[in-house]
Amino acid sequence: MIIHDQHVHSYYSFDSKQPIEEYLLKAKELDLDYFVLTDHCDLNYLDQNKDLFFDIDKQFEELNSLQSKFPNIKILKGIEIGYKPNEINRINNIIKDNQFDLINFSLHESDKIDYYFAEEYKKHGIIETLNLYFKRELEAIESFKDYDVFCHLDYGFKTAFLIDQNLSIDKYENELSKIMKVLIKDEKALEINLKVQEVLPTKHTKYILNLYKSLGGKYLTLSSDAHELDKFRLHFDKYIKIIKDSGFDNLVYFVNRNKYLFKIS
Ligand SMILES: [Zn+2]
Ligand SMILES: [Zn+2]
Repeated sequence: MIIHDQHVHSYYSFDSKQPIEEYLLKAKELDLDYFVLTDHCDLNYLDQNKDLFFDIDKQFEELNSLQSKFPNIKILKGIEIGYKPNEINRINNIIKDNQFDLINFSLHESDKIDYYFAEEYKKHGIIETLNLYFKRELEAIESFKDYDVFCHLDYGFKTAFLIDQNLSIDKYENELSKIMKVLIKDEKALEINLKVQEVLPTKHTKYILNLYKSLGGKYLTLSSDAHELDKFRLHFDKYIKIIKDSGFDNLVYFVNRNKYLFKIS
């Protein structure tokens, strides 16, 4: 078996134009056993009463019809849910009403601040914004538990690093340790997100992996966070080696919300 990409966006996401079928043609070419799609669900984005969400029924219908076209690939249904404290009821209902294989859980914004944009860090202060970011991540995983994978732990750090390349992740060991300990206690998986890693030095990725390992972390997913076909499974070989060299023998993946181990060699 070849490990599949566990964080993939299509034209159902507000920020992607990528048709699903092209991913499946690629998955077939690579002889993958699984394909999972994890489009965005960010409710009440920036408190603007606007949902960055998609029509799940329509997406499931398309996935079901693609399943008959690609019988040798098991098409899994995933979603990337953004943390939003005042929308937890709606989030719970979305999860209850739809049979997902995988719930990726993320933090993209804190009501007024979107952590993707460098302007926010310049406006509110880089260190202040990063402190708020890590605090909010901890709040997210302490107050919401119905997910499988915590995504891009270092998403906010990446934006700050692009402004100030002297920033080093080890300054945040305390914050990261607190977050990782909750993930480990809850037996959730930590994602190694290559969209984030590819703009950070390799030593950053190794630092995250070593810290997680030293705290007893076992469960990792690997993903490109592709929003277009060219990024699908990009740099997987390089990062599988880094993960292996950091002392991990397995990655995990999810089917019907159950965790399975994939041995890396
Ligand atoms: Zn995300
Ligand atoms: Zn994503």
